[in-house]
Amino acid sequence: MSLGFSTRAIHNGEEPDFRDGASGDVAVPIHLSTTFAREKADSPTAGYEYTRSLNPTRKALEEKLASLDGAKYGLAFSSGLAAASTVIISLLKAGDNVIGFDDLYGGTRRLLSNVFINFNISTTYVDATVPENIEKAIKAETKLIWIESPTNPLLKIADIRAIAGIAKRHNLILVVDNTFLSPYFQNPLELGADIVVYSTTKYIGGHSDTLGGSVVLNNEEFYKKISYNQNAVGAVLSPFDSYLTLRGAKTLAVRMEQHQKNALALAEFLQSSPKVKRVLYPGLKNHPHHDIAASQTRGFGGVFSFELEGNLDDAQRFLSKLKLFATAESLGGVESLAEIPAIMTHASVPKEVREKNGISDTLIRISAGIENTEDLINDFRQALK
Ligand SMILES: *Cc1c(COP(=O)(O)O)cnc(C)c1O
Repeated sequence: MSLGFSTRAIHNGEEPDFRDGASGDVAVPIHLSTTFAREKADSPTAGYEYTRSLNPTRKALEEKLASLDGAKYGLAFSSGLAAASTVIISLLKAGDNVIGFDDLYGGTRRLLSNVFINFNISTTYVDATVPENIEKAIKAETKLIWIESPTNPLLKIADIRAIAGIAKRHNLILVVDNTFLSPYFQNPLELGADIVVYSTTKYIGGHSDTLGGSVVLNNEEFYKKISYNQNAVGAVLSPFDSYLTLRGAKTLAVRMEQHQKNALALAEFLQSSPKVKRVLYPGLKNHPHHDIAASQTRGFGGVFSFELEGNLDDAQRFLSKLKLFATAESLGGVESLAEIPAIMTHASVPKEVREKNGISDTLIRISAGIENTEDLINDFRQALK
């Protein structure tokens, strides 16, 4: 019997332990021990030796994360970028080329362009909203395609099935960073991706109080390489952060529904304001890729962006007038956040690249929280005034 999403989110990885002497915890304990005693010196009891290699709290989370995407394997990392780094060092070597979406998360772009380039792993950026652009960019050295859908902050959509087809034809690895929709709304493995990466800092943790990342996949060979290197470089999630992420994951479904409800209501409200130039949210019928988004997801998430009339000062003034939206980077927590990508999350992207890609000074990104919808709309109304 295949269980529904919330049932898996609550139960998988956390079946109570009824063995002799076990306490039957309904929530998995935080196992702080860094080392595990053996009954016999020649083999670790229950497989545990040292927490970097395997820890019971992290293992519970890894099982839960795998189940949310219907994947065979899950791994929990100390951050989303630790997950990304470990995928890259595990599957690529000097001389290889990556094709990346030109609207990737700023930190991923920084990692590829400023760090891995020093190890002679190059990245070619293309507008992946047109799958043919990826096909055209493939070189003999290309090994991997790295996309997000929707992207950040422009909410562009990549046709994941079409890109997976290109990857298969050219024998390339397709990685999808699925942070924005979470496994509740989108499962890239089912659309043909080889590897899915998350910043669990965002929706899966969900409460802006724990940093983490994950990788889920079905391919055993890739799993072995990535888990070997995760242990080798030590990019593991701590037991306490594993516990917080386990706790967050249980309510992912109910939170995602309210995030989405608020995002759609706010996006529709802004669309009717003369002070707003454009609203970017894949859930709006007028979004250029609404149909592709709808064909590969079960929902459109809680993040959207909009462009205010005016200049950077006006954008900053609008943010300073908001009472319920904190001006802050990040997204995916229960509380609503607002930010200006040009001077915050995407300040590390060169200005000419930002402008070419459409990240103007008055572009504002909103992470709709799960507060009451009316309160958020009223806050926007008074701040726009
Ligand atoms: C935040 C984020 C990351 C990086 O995750 P960290 O947990 O901050 O390292 C990667 N991709 C996306 C889409 C993100 O939003």
